[in-house]
Amino acid sequence: MSITGNLELVGKNIYKSLGNRRTGVVTPANVKLVVVTKNQNIEMMQEAIDAGALVIGENRIQEALNKYEILDRQVEWHLIGHLQTNKARRAVDLFDLIHSVDSENLALEIDRAARKLGKRQQILMQLNVSGEDTKYGLQPAKMLQVAAFISNLEHVSLSGIMTIAPYFENAELTRPIFKQTQFLYGELIAANIPNTNIEWLSMGMTSDYEIALEEGANLIRIGTGIFTERRYLC
Ligand SMILES: *Cc1c(COP(=O)(O)O)cnc(C)c1O
Repeated sequence: MSITGNLELVGKNIYKSLGNRRTGVVTPANVKLVVVTKNQNIEMMQEAIDAGALVIGENRIQEALNKYEILDRQVEWHLIGHLQTNKARRAVDLFDLIHSVDSENLALEIDRAARKLGKRQQILMQLNVSGEDTKYGLQPAKMLQVAAFISNLEHVSLSGIMTIAPYFENAELTRPIFKQTQFLYGELIAANIPNTNIEWLSMGMTSDYEIALEEGANLIRIGTGIFTERRYLC
C-alpha cells in the first residue's frame, strides 16, 4: 500500500478507536497525527505532505535540520527524540513542539535559547511511566514538581505530557501504561498551574496507537505504519 493509502487507513483507524473510547469527550477534530519521518528521505516525506500530513516528527536535530532546508515549511515540526542540553538552541530554532523534556535543567536551557531567539517554546514533559531503565523520561512522581518549575520560565510554555510504552507483541498489554498516563494528565490539568496551557497527551505509535487513543491520547506519533509497504496495517 502507498503512503497515501496508509495515511487514509490510519485516519479511519483513528475514528474507529475514538468510537471505542469509554471515557472522556470524543473529539476527533482535536486529535493530531505526527507523521514520524526519521530515516525517511525527502521524497517520501514530500509524498506524505502532499497526501495531507500536517505535522512532521523527527528525533535527531541534525537530520531534521538537513530536511528542513529542503522541505515545505508550512507543516509543523515536532521533536520527539531525546534532546541534549547543548543542542537546545538548535531545537528551539527548528521545532514548534518539543515532546521530550525530561529534566528541569533541559527546560532551563530551552528557556535561555528561546529568550535569545525571541520565542516562547512549547514543550511537553516526557514521563517514564513504564519504569524501564532504558527509557528516558521523568518519574511520574516528579511530574507536578517539574511542571511548577517550568511554569516559572518565561519563554517556555508547558502544554502537556508524552510517554512511550514498551513494545509488546500483544498491544493490549500497553493499556495499563496508557491508562496511568491519562490519569497523570488529569492530575496535571487539575493542578491548574499558572502560566501553563495543558492540552496535549502524546502517546501511541504504530504498534499501539489505537489503544492509546482509546485511553485518551490526542497526539499520536506514527512512522513505520505510514512509510512501510504492507498489505494490512495492524
Ligand atoms: C520512532 C518513534 C515513533 C514512531 O514509531 P513507529 O513505530 O515507527 O510508528 C514514535 N515516537 C518516538 C519517540 C519515536 O522515536
